[in-house]
Amino acid sequence: MITLKHISAHQSSITSPWPDGEWSSELALAARDAHSLLRAVAVDPEQLSEPLDPSSSFPVLAPPSFINRMQAGDPNDPLLKQVLPILREQQPETGFVNDPLAETDPNSGFVKAPGLLQKYHGRALLITTPACAINCRYCFRREFPYQQHRPRNHQQALDAIAADASVTEVILSGGDPLLLSDEHLLRLLNAINEIPHVQRIRIHSRIPIVLPQRITQGLLDALNQRCQMIMVVHSNHPQELNSQTQRAMACLQQAQLMLLNQSVLLRGINDSATVLSALSTKLFTQGVLPYYLHLPDHVAGTQHFFVSDDEGRAIFAKLQKILPGYLLPRLVREHSGAESKTLMNE
Ligand SMILES: *Cc1c(COP(=O)(O)O)cnc(C)c1O
Ligand code: SF4
Repeated sequence: MITLKHISAHQSSITSPWPDGEWSSELALAARDAHSLLRAVAVDPEQLSEPLDPSSSFPVLAPPSFINRMQAGDPNDPLLKQVLPILREQQPETGFVNDPLAETDPNSGFVKAPGLLQKYHGRALLITTPACAINCRYCFRREFPYQQHRPRNHQQALDAIAADASVTEVILSGGDPLLLSDEHLLRLLNAINEIPHVQRIRIHSRIPIVLPQRITQGLLDALNQRCQMIMVVHSNHPQELNSQTQRAMACLQQAQLMLLNQSVLLRGINDSATVLSALSTKLFTQGVLPYYLHLPDHVAGTQHFFVSDDEGRAIFAKLQKILPGYLLPRLVREHSGAESKTLMNE
């Protein structure tokens, strides 16, 4: 059980610079179609080397604070490319499918309760919400059937975790779990905290990067738990990190969270040892250690970002020559049915 004493013990040292309402106003101002996104970054559609897809079924979503980190007027900006829908997404490509990991196949055995996936020993993953604060074109869950995994509450999932003493870590995923309200998140975290065999709660979120204003005092208080807390943020390019992300990370660190980063290796965005090295180094200045560098999955609509195993290994080998070991992420690919992510850097 979480106690108020426990909360107040850390409170004096944590100060979020952002008032409660700011992140929702920021999100309300997000670009939600290709043309307003291009206008916001001062790029003329004529400048683009690829035709746009103005009516994608996976909608555009990019908050202003993320757009502000793009280079105005640059049609090839690495942040812009992560969120701009192009027609090429519609081109079918052999081997690229909606759910390459068969995560959602009821016969896969991964779905332990509505919204609860367990593929690996000791770690259960809770789908908390389908929504994100940004829509990344390369997303491996862009076609995830959230409707089927959207329980009205998490009771069945919590019961399943409580009934299995081998689960020592609960991962909050989504969508983006930090889009939940403070109250909802606190209720969920408290409930997980009450399960005695759970030692760690890990939150996978791109929000500290794309919507740092979400790291409010209320959130920091909710994150103060008996369990060890880990935040795995998601940044792909050093240009995504600025003084706002720096402040968000400092708050999370003061709230006793261990900060890790995962990236996706993306063609045309960060498929270079120079960019990845700058990313690792900059993450470290903000208190974040590189964790995973994912080779992209074979997801329909994302084939133009794809990097092959051999290309990935070649980039990684260069990266390894220029970085200290502790700044090297683990290069991984996910194979459905495997008992862990597959390490590719060997
Ligand atoms: C990636 C993943 C995890 C976490 O794996 P780690 O190697 O512990 O980071 C857990 N559950 C599922 C379903 C995953 O896809
Ligand atoms: S934040 Fe993560 S889950 Fe959401 S769209 Fe981007 S990659 Fe997908």
